[in-house]
Amino acid sequence: MTAMDEATRRDYLQSLGIDVWLPRAGRMPASLAVPVPMTVPKTAPAGPVPASDWPALQSEVAACTRCALHRSRTNTVFGVGATRARWMVIGEAPGADEDAQGEPFVGRAGQLLTAMLKACGLERPDVFIANILKCRPPNNRDPLPEEVRECLPYLTRQIARVRPQLILAVGRIAAQNLLATDAPLGRLRGQVHRYGELDTPLVVTYHPAYLLRSPGEKRKAWDDLKFAMSVCAPKPVS
Ligand code: SF4
Repeated sequence: MTAMDEATRRDYLQSLGIDVWLPRAGRMPASLAVPVPMTVPKTAPAGPVPASDWPALQSEVAACTRCALHRSRTNTVFGVGATRARWMVIGEAPGADEDAQGEPFVGRAGQLLTAMLKACGLERPDVFIANILKCRPPNNRDPLPEEVRECLPYLTRQIARVRPQLILAVGRIAAQNLLATDAPLGRLRGQVHRYGELDTPLVVTYHPAYLLRSPGEKRKAWDDLKFAMSVCAPKPVS
């Protein structure tokens, strides 16, 4: 896929419901101009995870009973995309559609995420998409700390295998759990955080489900994506 031209990006942005406003090279909104590093927990192992570990990890997740969510799930939601992706997108937990289909970010929120990625010049298979939790919490409630504690090691192993050059944390729950903070999402945006022993750059933005409820915030989400692209240029999987 060739680099996206401005007209195509404008089309995607308009389909997102974002007024067209394209930055000049080298200019960044003042609120995003000075990335502030933040210390985060060292959780991802430094060594590469062999490809052979991936099917074993998938089987482990599919059979997992480490927390009570296994009783109410229809499917585990392992994650989809390139296992050597430049960008990794991490959300909160499966919802009803994801639980039914076994795939993260489907339904309307998933369509919006797909459109957001397209605006960055990426298709879904160009990134790896996963959640903090692999099973759906009942009624889409927030994940409990013990559920995150039991499930996060799977994500840590996925990150160690994919070795992304950028993690895009979408939504408050994903951001707070990955960064081990209770800071509000608004304070976490516009900064380059670092995740794990690989010090992977991590950028925070809104969850597409939130953007569907609050379309007025789409402009800020686009600011976040531009910021993420300035940190690590998106590149389709060749
Ligand atoms: S949420 Fe995670 S830890 Fe809990 S049962 Fe599902 S896969 Fe296992």
